[in-house]
Amino acid sequence: MTNNKIVLVTGASSGIGEAVAARLVAEGHQVVAGARRTDRLDALAERTAKEPGGLHPVRLDVTDRADVEAFVRTAHDRFGRIDAVIANAGIMPLSRLDALLVDEWDRMIDVNVRGLLYSIAAALPRFTAQDSGHFVTIASIGAHEVTPTAAVYCGTKYAAWAITEGLRRESAPSIRVTTVSPGVVSSELADSITDPDAAAAMHTYRANAIEPGAIAGAVSYALAQPGDVDVNEIVVRPAAQR
Ligand code: NDP
Repeated sequence: MTNNKIVLVTGASSGIGEAVAARLVAEGHQVVAGARRTDRLDALAERTAKEPGGLHPVRLDVTDRADVEAFVRTAHDRFGRIDAVIANAGIMPLSRLDALLVDEWDRMIDVNVRGLLYSIAAALPRFTAQDSGHFVTIASIGAHEVTPTAAVYCGTKYAAWAITEGLRRESAPSIRVTTVSPGVVSSELADSITDPDAAAAMHTYRANAIEPGAIAGAVSYALAQPGDVDVNEIVVRPAAQR
């Protein structure tokens, strides 16, 4: 069953999620791909149509619990099981705390933390019922260190790391749990930055960015391990990032 897993990916319309979805479809898996921009998902389905697996686009807003429940239920109804969930959807509108962009703090908490929790809430009962499953969270090196302008973003990623680690500790051995923590990766993530100083700093920072395929490789590696091997965390940085 190694290469025909049913894998759900949140935030599959760009960047890391798109690369993960494309790689898993190329490896022969059935990928249920969720995001709000369904035109992007449809284009990805078209681009990967000749690959051995399949890509199934679903409109998904991870901040809406009912939406996340429906995302998981639809996949389960269609395929009869769910082998893995990749909780990848995230936003990063960076700013210093004293800029008081409180609405952006709220949005980061909603997507990066609540969205992850809703994904666990939807997947865990299925995993428990089928006595198998693999939950993969895309956290960040921001789950391990805090940089100026990234206090709230890092706070959400520390939370994502802690919640995922808690899930791992609490889960039966039949349920595997992996955190993938990327360094700087080329994607649309910085487009959500509205604070001019944070945007300028990020522009410089991103000069070393690696391609999202590097993170897709890490996810693929974790999924491909035999059932008694749980890759707990993979940190992938650009070689030039210290
Ligand atoms: P992108 O901006 O390219 O992709 C983000 C994805 O999240 C998009 O597919 C977007 O889809 C989706 N998304 C955002 N909000 C929602 C929502 N409410 N509901 C559903 N989907 C949503 O960024 P990346 O690929 O870089 O980011 C992916 C993950 O990787 C994030 O969790 C990010 O924090 C993490 N990460 C990224 C790093 C980097 O340097 N790029 C480094 C470390 C971690 P849509 O807008 O269509 O809904």
